[in-house]
Amino acid sequence: MIRTRSLRFRMMLLFSTLVGGLLAVTFLVCYLMFAGVIRAQLDRRLIDAAKPVLADLKPDPVEDDPKTLNSSSEDDISKLDISGEYFELLDASGRVLQRSKNFANQAFYAGDLPAATSTPVYRSLQDAALDQVRIVLIPFERGTEHRVLLLAMQSSDADQELAQFRRVIALLLPLSLLLAAAVSVWYTGRALRPIVDLTRHAAAMTEQAGAAVGVSLWKPLQVANPDDELGRLAATFNRLFARVDSTVQQMRQFVADASHELRTPLTVLQGETELVLSRVRAPEEYRRSLESLDGELKTLTRIVKGLFTLSMGDAGQLTIAREPLYLHEVLEESCAIAAPLARAKQISIECARPPEIPYDGDPAFLRQLFLIFLENAIKYSPANECIRVELSRREHVATVRFEDRGIGIAPQHLPRIFDRFYRVAPQGGGMFGSGGLGLAIAQVLVRAHGGSIECTSVPGQGSIFTVTLPLAGASGGHLPVPEDKQELRRI
Ligand code: ADP
Repeated sequence: MIRTRSLRFRMMLLFSTLVGGLLAVTFLVCYLMFAGVIRAQLDRRLIDAAKPVLADLKPDPVEDDPKTLNSSSEDDISKLDISGEYFELLDASGRVLQRSKNFANQAFYAGDLPAATSTPVYRSLQDAALDQVRIVLIPFERGTEHRVLLLAMQSSDADQELAQFRRVIALLLPLSLLLAAAVSVWYTGRALRPIVDLTRHAAAMTEQAGAAVGVSLWKPLQVANPDDELGRLAATFNRLFARVDSTVQQMRQFVADASHELRTPLTVLQGETELVLSRVRAPEEYRRSLESLDGELKTLTRIVKGLFTLSMGDAGQLTIAREPLYLHEVLEESCAIAAPLARAKQISIECARPPEIPYDGDPAFLRQLFLIFLENAIKYSPANECIRVELSRREHVATVRFEDRGIGIAPQHLPRIFDRFYRVAPQGGGMFGSGGLGLAIAQVLVRAHGGSIECTSVPGQGSIFTVTLPLAGASGGHLPVPEDKQELRRI
């Protein structure tokens, strides 16, 4: 039954039981000690009150002759009338010889008497007339006679004090228990809040799994104390789910963008095909339509290839064929491939005579990489401009720099241009359109080679993209130049 209750309830129950038990024991010990002290005080009062009377009753060994001892001093007891103090003089058999004046005329004590040599004996009695009574029995010798002086005092004051103490305990114990339970409920609730929040957040995350793209699934947990175990757990979950959330968001965005990008050329293809097929056309018209379809198909192919490269990169499965090559050769080849596109816009590509830099890399991917920057530079430059390409080597890195005097990129767009499908302004895809994937692919390719890309740009003045590729080993990736390559350089 208790097992099915919440952890908070069970902790409260355990805590309260423990505190209740400890308090009960503590109160009991305190009560017993207090009762002992009160009783000791009363006993001392009894002895103090009995002392002068006892001194009168005991014969003076110097002055009094035991044989002539009479009952004159014993008679004194019957004259005593001290408020709250009741005396009796008993003989060895328990017979009352004398009784103080204020004592009721009744048999008061019928118990055992202490032996002549023993110390005073204390008793607590319930008397009909005096109520709760504490008595002391003091044995003494009077001449040859064994006598016992009995002194009784009402103990109701002390009993009242003890009863008062009991009442306080009876009030304090449940109050302390209530307080302990309340504190434990409050504290465990506070301590377990990260777990409760976690459960609620996880439930909300499950419900929102189908929420729109861009809606964050994870709301960070409040971390009250980041140093305790639960605080650390909450902080770890925050980091973990923030990561999962951002990955899920990226994937959803990627799928949404990819389908959007693919839809446009597909719609064009479909429209064009339907239009051509709507009636019989002249061969020249068919040719024009097929050329247009070809352009759209090329765009589609580039986008699909790009998506494939990116997904391979994401999965860590982009296989880089590390071949010995010369970077300047791959760069020159790329410039040659881009030259017709540049010529169409009367743009010149200046490739300052590059140094020979041997490198271990994938020639196809490197060509694709350089072409992305060259095509962008051509795309985003006005006609009759010039693009400068520079290859250099510094210690263990090779640097390829693409500089154009095109439209440039505004600072607010710079941090996002490497995002997938991000475009500052929609561009006509055309033959070289990447659909906003060019720089994202470049990033994946450079990273696969262990390098990095930097971009500086001034809107209206142009952009500079710098690719840094680390050269393998201290020798700067200097590979033995293959025979056929040496030949090639000579040609
Ligand atoms: P795409 O060129 O297909 O749009 P990219 O990923 O290659 O996609 O580039 C992302 C965006 O960065 C481009 O849309 C463009 O706005 C900007 N950009 C890239 N290169 C240049 C450049 N050389 N000059 C100006 N803007 C550029």
